[in-house]
Amino acid sequence: MCEYDIVFNNNLVTLLNTQDLSKIMFFDEIYTIEIVQSIFVYKDSYYFDDKKKNILILIQNEKYLEIYLSQVFRKILTNIIKLKVDNIINETSLPRYNTVRVKDQISIWGSCSKKGNINLNWRIGLLPIPISRYVIIHELCHLIEFNHSSSFWKLVSQFDKNYILHRKWIKINGIKIMQLFRF
Ligand SMILES: [Zn+2]
Repeated sequence: MCEYDIVFNNNLVTLLNTQDLSKIMFFDEIYTIEIVQSIFVYKDSYYFDDKKKNILILIQNEKYLEIYLSQVFRKILTNIIKLKVDNIINETSLPRYNTVRVKDQISIWGSCSKKGNINLNWRIGLLPIPISRYVIIHELCHLIEFNHSSSFWKLVSQFDKNYILHRKWIKINGIKIMQLFRF
């Protein structure tokens, strides 16, 4: 088990068991969620403060809170994930993609097309950083090796020394995270 399992699982347990929606972890950082529910809210909206690690949610009807939260999380993480991808490209000098899309896939974390279009699941933002980094590196390496041959894995290992461990981690623990925020 990796050392970040414990930290991460604590948060996951909080999230799943007590339905505590007062905090969420994005890329290993805890964000506080403030919810204001009122019939006087003109339109469901949110304010994301990355510096203060705070997300303010204004919602009309609490009935739709979970659905709205998942939409907000996806929007916030779309921007963060795109930055992460660019940072990893700068750091590794892996090739640039054609497009990166952050989606709501049902069972896959990422994919890469022959045209160089990369799709990533927004829930990679809920994974421990080394694991999400592995997913991004995996897809970027497909821009060079469009297969899962031994030369592909050799390439992955150049940028993620612990890729075997990370791959195993996501196979075992990823299912739980993949099921979060589906309504
Ligand atoms: Zn692959």
